[in-house]
Amino acid sequence: MYGEGQAAFQALRGIDLRIAAGDFVAVMGPSGSGKSTAMNILGCLDMPSSGTYQFQGVHVERLDRNQRALLRRHCLGFVFQGFNLLPRTSALENVELPLLYRGEGALSRHDAAKAALARVGLAGWEAHTPTELSGGQQQRVAIARAIVTQPLVLLADEPTGNLDTQRSHEIMELLVTLNREQGITILMVTHEPEMAAYAQRIVHFIDGRVTEDQTPGEATCG
Ligand code: ADP
Ligand code: MG
Repeated sequence: MYGEGQAAFQALRGIDLRIAAGDFVAVMGPSGSGKSTAMNILGCLDMPSSGTYQFQGVHVERLDRNQRALLRRHCLGFVFQGFNLLPRTSALENVELPLLYRGEGALSRHDAAKAALARVGLAGWEAHTPTELSGGQQQRVAIARAIVTQPLVLLADEPTGNLDTQRSHEIMELLVTLNREQGITILMVTHEPEMAAYAQRIVHFIDGRVTEDQTPGEATCG
C-alpha cells in the first residue's frame, strides 16, 4: 500500500509466489501493474504493508532496517535499467564498491572486481570510466558490480530497457550463463517477450495480480 487516506494506493493485490533457488524468472506486465513494487519487496528494499515474505526461511518483514540491509549486502545483487554507475570512476572501482561497503581490504577487492569484470566479458576494460563505455558495456559493469559479492539472487528491473536489440540479446545471454554456470537465481522484469523468453519461468502481472505463470518448455496438457 502506497500513501495514506484518499491518496492510498494498493499496488499489489494478493500475490502468492514461490521462487526456487537456481531459477530464472521473468516478470512481465503493463506499466503500472506492480512489477517494480514486487521486485522491491523481493529485493528487501521495501516492505509489504500486509502479508509475509520469507527469504530462505527468514521472515523478512520481521527484520529491522539494518538486518535487511545486511541481507541485501550479503545475499542479493541489483541491476537497473539506468546503469547507475559512478561517473568519472573506473569500471574497476565501480565494481569494487559493494566490497568496500562490506569492509574488505584493497587487495581482495581489487582481485574480486577484476574477476567479476572478466566474467562479464570486460577483461582489459578495468580502467575505463562509464563515459568511455557503450551502453551495453556499462550494463555489463553494473552486472559485474551486482555479482562481485557472489549473491544468491540477482534482481534486474528492466536491465535491457536502455539497450538496442543486439546489446539486449547479449546481456540476456550473459544472464543465462550466470544462472547456469554460477547457479545465481535471477528475477528479471522486462516488457519485451523476446527477452522474457530467455527465462525458465514467466510470471505475468496485471493490475497488481499474477494473471499467468508459465514455464515454457514444460508440457501444459491438462
Ligand atoms: P510497474 O513496475 O509494473 O510499472 P510499479 O510497481 O512501479 O509498476 O507501480 C505499481 C503502481 O503503484 C502504479 O500505479 C504506481 O503509480 C504506484 N506506485 C508505485 N510507486 C509508488 C509510490 N512510491 N507511491 C505511490 N504510488 C506508487
Ligand atoms: Mg517498473
